[in-house]
Amino acid sequence: MPDARTHDIITMISGVALVLPVYNYVLTRTGEGQLAAVCTLLFVVGHCVSGMMFSPDLDLDSAIDDRWGVFFWIWRPYMWLVPHRSRWLSHGLLVPTLLRLLYFYAVVCLLLIVLSWCLARLGVILPNYHIQLTAYLRELPVNNPQETAVFMVGFITGGAAHTIADWLVTGGKRYLRAVGIRVGDRYKNHDRWQPQRRRVRAW
Ligand SMILES: [Zn+2]
Repeated sequence: MPDARTHDIITMISGVALVLPVYNYVLTRTGEGQLAAVCTLLFVVGHCVSGMMFSPDLDLDSAIDDRWGVFFWIWRPYMWLVPHRSRWLSHGLLVPTLLRLLYFYAVVCLLLIVLSWCLARLGVILPNYHIQLTAYLRELPVNNPQETAVFMVGFITGGAAHTIADWLVTGGKRYLRAVGIRVGDRYKNHDRWQPQRRRVRAW
């Protein structure tokens, strides 16, 4: 499997390659150049955030959870529960990417509930932020349908670019070889994963 840096490059190249098709698609559908530009930007942001921060390789102790800094532990249960490269839970074209987003939303809600509960014990009453967040997210596709749709499509393509690259390297080596790309048999450096000892965190 490609390492994190290679995946980042793949994410960026595929994101840039999709800029024109997305811009043209939104422009022909809406006829609004400014909206098409905003939607294209949102698409690229969704694609890159998905590929670099919400990468499928969060299912193993990798360079990716380092990027979350002190919040790396958010992804620990995901890493423990999801088998590496599970087609249904981490490395797939659609469901796993949406699952990671749902998982992140659930963790944020849980944190907000726990924070409210703890502060309530100290006499500080917070508004129901998790309910407000949920209401905001539910209204988002109603109030901004095009923007939400392109962001979500970008988010899905960001995860798909990673998965396709992994599939190509493991299952499609002979096809890559046919077009002149040689892939070695060992992928020890896969996302700087070190099986026996704890990695030293970058932060
Ligand atoms: Zn992977």
